Amino acid sequence: MSIKTKGQSVSFTIQNALILVESGYETTAVQVVDNCISAIALQNTSFNSPSYQGENSPLNSPPYQGGARGGETVIDAKNKLLLPGFVNAHTHSSEMWQRGIIPPLPLELWIAELYDFTPLDTEQIYLSALGTAVETLLSGGTSVVDHLVLIPGQELETIAAAVSAYQEVGIRAFIGPLIQDASLTAGMPAGDTGIEHAAYIRSTQATLDLMKSAIEQFHNPEKGVNILLAPTGIQLCSDALFQGCIELSDRYNLCRHAHLLETPAQKKLAQEKYGCSAVEHLKQIGYLSPRTSLAHCVWLEDSDIAIMAETRSTVVHNPLSNLRLGSGIAPVLKYRQAGVNVSFGCDGAASNDGQDLLEAIKIGSILHNITDLDYRHWISPLQSVEMASLGGAKGLNASDEMGSLEVGKKADFVLYDLTSLSLLPRTDPIGLLVLGRPTNAVESVWINGRQIVGSGKVTTIDVDNLRQELFDRSEWSSKRQSPMVSEIESHYRQVMKLQGYS
Ligand SMILES: [Zn+2]
Repeated sequence: MSIKTKGQSVSFTIQNALILVESGYETTAVQVVDNCISAIALQNTSFNSPSYQGENSPLNSPPYQGGARGGETVIDAKNKLLLPGFVNAHTHSSEMWQRGIIPPLPLELWIAELYDFTPLDTEQIYLSALGTAVETLLSGGTSVVDHLVLIPGQELETIAAAVSAYQEVGIRAFIGPLIQDASLTAGMPAGDTGIEHAAYIRSTQATLDLMKSAIEQFHNPEKGVNILLAPTGIQLCSDALFQGCIELSDRYNLCRHAHLLETPAQKKLAQEKYGCSAVEHLKQIGYLSPRTSLAHCVWLEDSDIAIMAETRSTVVHNPLSNLRLGSGIAPVLKYRQAGVNVSFGCDGAASNDGQDLLEAIKIGSILHNITDLDYRHWISPLQSVEMASLGGAKGLNASDEMGSLEVGKKADFVLYDLTSLSLLPRTDPIGLLVLGRPTNAVESVWINGRQIVGSGKVTTIDVDNLRQELFDRSEWSSKRQSPMVSEIESHYRQVMKLQGYS
């Protein structure tokens, strides 16, 4: 399979692909011209029928026989399912270096260990961004939101390393440099302990200046790189930082991102800090909007959910991380009933401890069956797929351009091999994909009309070389001690009223 490329212009047709239509599955031809879907036609119908989408299409003589027609590349997708690409709507790529090693701890202690051992070399940032992109692609994702942890003193270099990795792979990247203006211990409620926090390494204004440089240097949607404003969350950010981010996102028309009420400790902290809920506060300062996506949203009250709906903010559901860190179960069925847009994220690989989007979609869908006896509210596989694709696109204010197979949208899509052992025997393809345990099911991926995966392999980078680099730059290890965890654990136990206080 290859694509004819004339400079930036791409033109090809995929035929015999199974796609989902209202009445079930249909065999379809999809044509791509200049990076966008230019025509979609059911192959058992005439192109003059209402099921034909697209104008001035050269797709005018069905049925297709395969091979090149009139110089155009034709790809046979028999026994393959074509779906819009999913969005991995929240992750932290450099956590890949610490997957599998942090012991079972809640977020506030887990993050202390994470930061004690965070990578400080831009080459590591580059490699873990490559790894995150590859694992996202091979589990159905075509876009990734990287809430990128910055190396102190090398902030723009960190972003540059991730940008070059994502551009080499060819995945659509939304990079939100992770910023804050308080030091880590400020993320815990103080209770009545009178704890004092060290000053943060950089002033609020210096951080906002850094973001302005990052936007001007790296935001380039045409080249597949988008910058987001992404203060880490209310636990470590001042109102001045949030307001500066709002101002930049308005000035440059960029999306906003943050963590929101991931843990019970954060809910308590919001009350201490604002005397109201975090959601009410973010609404008051103007952070919530249709261009705002918020990771986790586990500890929201019904009144907060109403605010999320009213401001048309997006919830990014990260079920594996919430289970791993004991954060709780996000009230996703309530969000859906209130009309709040929900998408899926893997979250960083140190709280997951992988980066398999299909796994996050599966767990994030069936997890909620235990939260509501009324099975009519449960999430169907079809709804899961829509949340992962269109829901992801909406959260990035990009649903006009991606998230569904429609004429005029970007050619960001994935072919799944329905003859893969894990997708057999033949029943409902989407049911198998979401509820099953698909392995090696992604056959091909196109992003912006460019083929990135073919025959189940990423074609744009040397994955064997990546494996070797990840191997060589790490070592087997079972025990390490985090000084920061030892320092703050007793405070955490005290304010969270855990037995023994130590
Ligand atoms: Zn996160």
